[in-house]
Amino acid sequence: MQSISIRDLKLSFGALTVLDTLNLDIRDGEFLVLLGPSGCGKSTLLNCIAGLLDITEGQIFIKNRNVTWDEPSRRGIGMVFQSYALYPQMTVRGNLSFGLKNQRMPRAEIDARVARAAEILQIEALLDRKPGALSGGQRQRVAIGRALVRDVDVFLFDEPLSNLDAKLRSELRVELKRLHNRLGNTMVYVTHDQIEALTLADRIAVMRGGVIQQLDAPQVIYNKPANLFVAGFIGSPA
Ligand code: ADP
Ligand code: MG
Repeated sequence: MQSISIRDLKLSFGALTVLDTLNLDIRDGEFLVLLGPSGCGKSTLLNCIAGLLDITEGQIFIKNRNVTWDEPSRRGIGMVFQSYALYPQMTVRGNLSFGLKNQRMPRAEIDARVARAAEILQIEALLDRKPGALSGGQRQRVAIGRALVRDVDVFLFDEPLSNLDAKLRSELRVELKRLHNRLGNTMVYVTHDQIEALTLADRIAVMRGGVIQQLDAPQVIYNKPANLFVAGFIGSPA
C-alpha cells in the first residue's frame, strides 16, 4: 500500500516554478528521506504534503484519500520543524495537550496520550517545565511529542536536528530511528545532511532543482548513484 502519492505536482511562487510535474510514491510505514542542497525545493514539497501551500497543479493522496484540497488539520499528518515553535508561556504538558484540548478530547484520554508520548520520548521529568528552561534537544523532543499525541498516520520532519550540536544530533538520530521502529508510522524527513539520510532512511529521494534525481535504498544510492550529481552530493565513488 502507498501511504502518500504525489501526482504531477506543480508548485510556483509567482513566476518561479519550484516543483514541476513531480511524482512520488511513499510506502506505508517507510522512513523516506528527502535529501538535497539548500534551495532545491525540499521544504516546499513537504509543505505541499502538509497542506501549508496551495499547489498550482496536480494531486496529493494520503492513505488513498485525495487530500489535495483538504485543510492541514484534516490530513492525518503531524509536522515537526527546525525551529520548535513551542508556546513559551505554557508548560511542556500544556504544549503537548493544547491541540487535543482544542479538539475537545476527554481529559482522561488527553492525560493518557501525554503520558505515553512523554514515556516514549523520555521527557516525563520535564512535563511541568516551560520551554525556556529546556535544552535544544529537549525542546525538539517536545515538538516531536506534539505530533505523537495526535496519533497521526504520517510524520513530516523539516530538518528537525539542524539547530542542534553534533553530539545531540547523533543521539536524536538514534532516538528517531527507535521511534520509527516502535510506531511503524510513515515518516518523511527533509535534510541536506548526507549522514542523516544514510543512517535514517529506508529509502532516500535525492533532489536537485525541484527534480527527484534518484529514489532508492541508502546502499543503492551510495554504491550505484544514478548520475554525477548524486555521486558528488552523497560523496560516493562515481
Ligand atoms: P529547501 O527546503 O530545499 O532549502 P525551499 O523549498 O525552501 O528549498 O525553496 C525552494 C525554492 O523556492 C528556493 O529558490 C526558494 O527561494 C523558493 N521559495 C521558497 N519559499 C518561497 C516563497 N514563500 N516565496 C517565494 N519563493 C520561495
Ligand atoms: Mg528547507
